[in-house]
Amino acid sequence: MLKKIKTNRIPFLDNYFITIGDTCYIPKKYFIQCQTIERFKQWSLPLFLHENEHSKRQIEYGIKKWLFRYITNKRFKWEEEVIGYTIEIKKRIELNFSINRDWYFKTLKSYRMATDNQIRLFLDSLLK
Ligand SMILES: [Zn+2]
Repeated sequence: MLKKIKTNRIPFLDNYFITIGDTCYIPKKYFIQCQTIERFKQWSLPLFLHENEHSKRQIEYGIKKWLFRYITNKRFKWEEEVIGYTIEIKKRIELNFSINRDWYFKTLKSYRMATDNQIRLFLDSLLK
């Protein structure tokens, strides 16, 4: 479970939300909106649920072991992100939030963990 919020200070990853164990590192530009878990949830419940799932799975699996596998194994990374993004997108659908399919496609592509076709099939499975 996520318990802490910190600013993301990793220069080349500073546009990403990164969860390590019980802490979510948030891009500096969003930090004012998301200084606490409660504010993060209010700002974007779908994104909170995505990051919270990473947190839960890392703690269950072993944080170092999970991170090592995530960094070194594209298939594992893809499987973990499919879980996270499924939760996020389903929640967006449930809440009637807008969904920018192109944005999700580009974002998933930027992780370099799946082929364009895998990404398309995944998005097709959630978005009709
Ligand atoms: Zn994720």
